[in-house]
Amino acid sequence: MKNSSTLHSIPISLLRQYIFCPRIPYFSEILGYRMQEPIWTEQGQSFHSELEKLIIRRIPEKFGFNNPSMEKRVNVVSEQLGLNGIVDFIFYNDTYVVPIEFKISGKKPTRGQELQLLAYGYALEEMKGLQFERGYFVMGSSKKPIAVFPNDFKRDEIINIRSSILQTYETMLMPESPASIHKCTQCEYLNLCNDRNF
Ligand code: SF4
Repeated sequence: MKNSSTLHSIPISLLRQYIFCPRIPYFSEILGYRMQEPIWTEQGQSFHSELEKLIIRRIPEKFGFNNPSMEKRVNVVSEQLGLNGIVDFIFYNDTYVVPIEFKISGKKPTRGQELQLLAYGYALEEMKGLQFERGYFVMGSSKKPIAVFPNDFKRDEIINIRSSILQTYETMLMPESPASIHKCTQCEYLNLCNDRNF
C-alpha cells in the first residue's frame, strides 16, 4: 500500500485509466493488482517502426520544422503537475516541442488518450523550456496524423483528475463507478468488482 506523501508524482497513464473507470487506479495502485503491460507483438513492433519512418518523412516538414531533433520512448516528468510517463515519439526545434502517440487501432482518440497526450506535452514544455502548441496521434490502418491542442480547460481537467486519484489514495476506499456494461465486460478488473449486476 502507498500513501499520498510518497506519490507526489503519479503515472500519466493513470489519467486515462481513471477516465475509463475511477476504480482502476484503486485496484492497481492501492490494492496492487497491476495488469501486465501489453508486450508488443511482432505486428505491433513493425507498426511502430513503420510509423516512425512515416513521421520522420512527413510530419516535421508538413508543419514547417526544418531538420528537427527527434527522440523515441522519451521519459517525461512534470514537477508542476506532479506527473510522469513515457511518450512514444517527440520532435522539437529551438521553439516548439511536439509529442506523438501511436495507436495500432481506432479512428479517433478517446478523451482519456487525448488528456494523456496533452499531459506528455505539458511535461515536455516544462522540461525543455519550449512551447507546446499541438501533439499528434497516428492511428490505425489509415496512419493519418490527428492533431490535438492544449488549452486551459483541458489542463484543469488533468489537474482535477490527478486530485481525484490522490483522494482515492488518501481514503483508500473503492470509488463509485459510472462504467457502462460495455466497459465492464471488456475490463480486466471485472472479477474484483462485486456490484456489477448483469
Ligand atoms: S469492471 Fe467495471 S466497474 Fe469494475 S473496474 Fe472495470 S470498468 Fe470499473
